Amino acid sequence: MIDLRSDTVTQPSEEMRFAMANAAVGDDVFKEDPTVIELEAFGAQLFDKEAALFCSSGTQTNQIAINVHVQPGGEVICHEESHIYKYEGGGIAKNTGASVRLLPGDRGRITAANIAQWINPPHDVHFPLTQLVSIEDTANRGGGAVYDTEELARISAFCKAQNLPLHLDGARVFNALAVNQLPAATYGAFYDSISVCLSKGLGAPVGSLLIGSAAFIEKARRVRKVFGGGMRQAGIIAAGGLYALKYNVDRLKVDHLHALRLGEALQNCGKIESVLPVQTNIVVAILKDPEQRDLFIEALKNKGILCMAFGPGMIRMVTHLNVSESDCQYCSEIIEKM
Ligand SMILES: *Cc1c(COP(=O)(O)O)cnc(C)c1O
Repeated sequence: MIDLRSDTVTQPSEEMRFAMANAAVGDDVFKEDPTVIELEAFGAQLFDKEAALFCSSGTQTNQIAINVHVQPGGEVICHEESHIYKYEGGGIAKNTGASVRLLPGDRGRITAANIAQWINPPHDVHFPLTQLVSIEDTANRGGGAVYDTEELARISAFCKAQNLPLHLDGARVFNALAVNQLPAATYGAFYDSISVCLSKGLGAPVGSLLIGSAAFIEKARRVRKVFGGGMRQAGIIAAGGLYALKYNVDRLKVDHLHALRLGEALQNCGKIESVLPVQTNIVVAILKDPEQRDLFIEALKNKGILCMAFGPGMIRMVTHLNVSESDCQYCSEIIEKM
């Protein structure tokens, strides 16, 4: 099977498994796991931030960040289709008791101008206090759309001027950086906190990093414990994450080329109405007949290709390090004949 459902399905390579099996470990709740410490230092330094925290998932890093930045009754501004709102089980309400202001925006992205309209007046008791802006880059529901760097600079400058923390749900931030050909440190300067998934296109089996100032990470470490996320000999899994950050970032551009190829094939497929412009490793296509979606997915499955339903009449395909060029070629030929 060629699995294009998600970039979370990647398998650790032999080399990664070797690094994991041989990792030095200790009790990380005692801050004694050398591999976790190394991973956190490596991630922080990449983004030119002071500190990082290794967590079990991207949902956990996002929810911890929200909990540190926002008080109960406060408000988070984010895109209406953002992962933190749509796919984290109502965690903003449940974990932090916070309100959400959902903004529309092109392909999962919001703008400084729109954010500026929705900062609640802090002295009017009717309104929840706006306490956080959260950006998703790349934007999953936007079909892997990448924020324009100038817009990010505007959003960041606006939030700084308002004293409003800015969080990045950067589950796929390295895909965005690959497109904009920028060092991670450029993005580090924009945000107060950054969540990075190690277990998506980077290919580690488990884990995410939360990155920020030393003071922020100290608070985050307490919240992680309260959320039940303190781990003991976590170096075993951190070693996979460290390997991923060292060796699997540069190759993301290959996934982007593969996704472009799949996008073209879908464009040429008689059953497909349109394809969102492919910028990174996510391809979202809209069927001519929305009713045919599940049949289309089933037909691909019968040819050995897995993809995902992505809303009414929509499917999603995601490329990753276990999708080779020949897999991509095979999928394209099948799709064009559908
Ligand atoms: C996958 C993902 C996350 C985190 O998901 P986990 O499965 O909890 O690691 C967060 N944000 C976005 C945009 C994602 O795609």
